[in-house]
Amino acid sequence: MPDHSNALFPSSATSPGGVSIELDSVTKTYPGQKVSAVEEFSMRIEPGELVMFVGPSGCGKTTTMKMVNRIIEPTSGSIRIDGQDVLGLSPHELRRHIGYVIQQIGLFPHMTIAENVATVPRLLGWSKQQIAARVEELLETVQLDPAEFANRYPRQLSGGQQQRAGVARALAADPPVMLMDEPFGATDPITREKLQSEFLRLQAEIGKTIIFVTHDFDEAVRLGDRIAVLSERSQVEQFDTPAAILAAPANEYVASFIGSGAALKRLALMPVGTVRLSGATGDLGGRPSIDPASTLRDALNLLVVTGAEAVDVIDPTGNRLGQLTHADISAALTQAGLSGSAVR
Ligand code: ADP
Ligand code: MG
Repeated sequence: MPDHSNALFPSSATSPGGVSIELDSVTKTYPGQKVSAVEEFSMRIEPGELVMFVGPSGCGKTTTMKMVNRIIEPTSGSIRIDGQDVLGLSPHELRRHIGYVIQQIGLFPHMTIAENVATVPRLLGWSKQQIAARVEELLETVQLDPAEFANRYPRQLSGGQQQRAGVARALAADPPVMLMDEPFGATDPITREKLQSEFLRLQAEIGKTIIFVTHDFDEAVRLGDRIAVLSERSQVEQFDTPAAILAAPANEYVASFIGSGAALKRLALMPVGTVRLSGATGDLGGRPSIDPASTLRDALNLLVVTGAEAVDVIDPTGNRLGQLTHADISAALTQAGLSGSAVR
């Protein structure tokens, strides 16, 4: 693929993943409003990091995000991408180098899926062959068979398929930065979970710097490298890894956002293979078993469902590594809380 992004964000030429994003005391006051929608927002996002903005409706998530690609102009403050002041760049140029996915998907209804995905490469002047190859590659990446979907119109796709096409379009020119505003919000729970796991798989491959807005804390925990819990005027109540926020919410506001079941949510972040197991190794036989890549939540679930007092941890080669009891699971949780380590 022709790499036009290098011209704008130099270090994306040498490191294939993302670039840093820095916001410094960014404020947005909409015309005629007394109260700012975003007030003195500061944050540094590392290259390749997936940061979730989570907070209630109206707290300023979308406004904060849209200032990064200047769909909304800040009232004051500064924003740098890859060290460059974005306020000094042409907004049109800037947007061609930032992928953008919105809740309403926003596919162009009178264009086919292929034409939608080709939008930015066309603006960047890629050749027909380059565009065709890229469209095919991307539709495969988001698991929409090109032979079946390339020439359909958006209305001929399900909601989940449209979301995938939206992600493919945002990725088209391989932008080092992606902004995603509640991209899976409009889909049913089963489709959403599928899109989330596909998205995680994709991000593991491409390593973009991503700001992902959601009002769903569980989605934030599942996807984020770090989560920014926001309150009114986009005030940052806590900015940390999911494990750290779940283990030690900074205040009542964050705790209420986590809701019930914080311990279970933490267990879901902890792979069985990363905790201390008990019991002898070697085959004892007859017990329920689980593989080391499963989470402690899966292990607990198995204990509850089977009524067994321990589950065996068995690796893919059939090797028994040890066992997990209720007490082992509780101990792992306490240990992670004490060390404050980010178990991800
Ligand atoms: P969120 O994405 O968290 O739901 P928004 O960033 O959309 O929040 O909105 C933040 C605040 O700014 C809200 O109070 C909203 O009503 C207000 N707001 C958003 N857009 C405009 C606008 N164009 N003009 C005036 N106020 C706006
Ligand atoms: Mg919003």
